[in-house]
Amino acid sequence: MSTPPSSERSASRERSSRLPARPGIAGMEPYGAPQLDVPHLLNVNENPYPPSAEVVETIARDVAAAAGGLNRYPNREFLALRSDLADYLATESGVRVAPEQVWAANGSNEVMLHLLQAFGGPGRAALSFAPTYSMYPEYARDTLTEWIAGRRETDFTVDPDVATAAVLEHQPSVILLTSPNNPTGTTLPSSTVRAVCEAALAVDVDGAPAVVVVDEAYGEFRRDGVPSAMELLSTYPNLAVSRTMSKAFALAGARVGYLAASRDLVDVLRVVRLPYHLSAVTQAVARAALKHSATLLAQVDALRAERDATVEWLRSRQLAGVPLEVADTDANFVLFGSFDDRHAVWQGLLDRGVLIRETGPDGWLRVSIGTPQDMVAFKDALVEVAGL
Ligand SMILES: *Cc1c(COP(=O)(O)O)cnc(C)c1O
Repeated sequence: MSTPPSSERSASRERSSRLPARPGIAGMEPYGAPQLDVPHLLNVNENPYPPSAEVVETIARDVAAAAGGLNRYPNREFLALRSDLADYLATESGVRVAPEQVWAANGSNEVMLHLLQAFGGPGRAALSFAPTYSMYPEYARDTLTEWIAGRRETDFTVDPDVATAAVLEHQPSVILLTSPNNPTGTTLPSSTVRAVCEAALAVDVDGAPAVVVVDEAYGEFRRDGVPSAMELLSTYPNLAVSRTMSKAFALAGARVGYLAASRDLVDVLRVVRLPYHLSAVTQAVARAALKHSATLLAQVDALRAERDATVEWLRSRQLAGVPLEVADTDANFVLFGSFDDRHAVWQGLLDRGVLIRETGPDGWLRVSIGTPQDMVAFKDALVEVAGL
């Protein structure tokens, strides 16, 4: 065989160094918050309190038991975990659903992907209300679903009439409501969720109504008297309420998210999940942690109090004579602004060992609620950097 001339060799090398990344993906960078090693991590809304020794012991014991069976694929339907999650939801929200009405995956990120794989797709649209969670447009992109950003009011609430009009105009197959919303912390009254569910029933997607997903990733942090959309599940068969063990539950590293919905809705999700998507180890960790839900959630009240104190402190501060703006929040973070150069403020805090998040509308910043020591460091650094 003769060697091809060198110009041909380099042409073929050039071709092979290019890859057929599809439109929509080509040239994109992977998205994610910076993971930096600094003393005060207040950027991804984690619970700052690690699991107690007692919880760690149960998890280690139950994972050891699961390890003995790792030659076999895990249980694909994981009804034991779904039953434990249903029990937890009944205690937390007062609403009892059957295990078959619960679905779980590797983080609520994957639950959301299942929803869009099942109910979105080419020729269909997903609607949400911005500013909201920055991952939603990525799930839409990854499932070839058109992304439509409806609008929130200037106080970050959703006007039920504006929302209803957007649903009727765009005829989305999936509507994402986030309550408490990220990055604003704002909750939706149940009258707004109801109005959107009613509008969804009037949508015609191949002869069916739209699906409404209420993302309650921060549900456990809501203030007293703020309802959960769990209460509307029995009224709307096209409603799904999504939760996670990553935030209040202090288990972000385990990657467990879940939802409650009608049995029929869950059955559609079972079609699109990869076989054995939830490993035996993950199932064991989640079930072990759920045995200790009271302990794991023990810090939630302290975090809510720290959040309310942080809001009050920020509202008492002035920037060149103007009080800081602070969004109402039912979550474990606070969105505040507005700064002419928010990146400089973010960087100044980072230089002082405090990592927060540059997100939300221009000029705003988001801080997660940490331990009292974290919050002292945050406030001291902010006073120094922004000259409050
Ligand atoms: C953090 C967060 C989630 C949770 O994601 P996991 O994949 O469960 O860790 C979901 N929705 C919103 C709005 C969030 O902020």
